[in-house]
Amino acid sequence: MSPIALHARRLSRTYRTTSPPVHVLDGIDLEVRDGEFIVIMGASGSGKSTLLYCLSGMDRPTGGSVELAGTDLTVLTAKEMSRIRLTRMGFVFQQAHFLANLSIRDNVLLPALNASPNDPDGASSRVDMLLERFGIAELAGRRITQVSGGQIQRASICRALVCSPEILFADEPTGALNTSMTTDVMDALTQVHADGTTLVMVTHEPACAARAERVIYLRDGTVVDELRLGAWTAAEAVPREDRLLAWLRARDF
Ligand code: ADP
Ligand code: MG
Repeated sequence: MSPIALHARRLSRTYRTTSPPVHVLDGIDLEVRDGEFIVIMGASGSGKSTLLYCLSGMDRPTGGSVELAGTDLTVLTAKEMSRIRLTRMGFVFQQAHFLANLSIRDNVLLPALNASPNDPDGASSRVDMLLERFGIAELAGRRITQVSGGQIQRASICRALVCSPEILFADEPTGALNTSMTTDVMDALTQVHADGTTLVMVTHEPACAARAERVIYLRDGTVVDELRLGAWTAAEAVPREDRLLAWLRARDF
């Protein structure tokens, strides 16, 4: 079996700004293997985004620990954590948050220049390779107002991969897209997984979740169940989705 890429133990996140306190995550244990594609599902408000943010060091859990390839993230300083986020993790959100006055290419380039300011040529050729690989090389010079939502998300995947992260986190990456753009973006993410990057994705769309090897189901901040789907193949897309749908319905999804 592959080594563990990400390991959460008794992870909790409580908000004490309200009375009574809100236990958004309540003792989550989770192991993600190197190169695995895992999806987090659950009703709105069940804690999916909070879990993703605690796993990726964007939010600090109030209890428990998270290890990235053996490094405990919960004891790092903010500076150490942001270095790890920049160099070893990639992020794709529902909205790309690209800078409107820069080209697509420069938006993708920015984090690479940040991470290795002494190697602009290396960063530049990696950007061109990624734009080519994800089919948007011809859009490199455009602004975000001049491309479709699906193309923007493919560009955000390139941006997330520009520092060659070992793990990619995605929170509802297709949440703002229509069906054909969703398929496009999921094809790109399936490619990311095929290239060996560990992938942790939150989605509420069964067709997207069916791409994963494993789906975990969150309810009120705890993992109540998991479904192992195995490696994805396009030929089995329909039966996989049917199997996932039946599983979800039995969990009141
Ligand atoms: P999901 O992504 O599954 O929709 P979230 O992780 O965004 O859920 O939120 C889970 C719960 O945490 C929600 O009930 C939300 O109201 C609560 N929550 C999020 N942020 C705060 C906060 N700053 N203070 C109090 N409660 C919060
Ligand atoms: Mg969310």
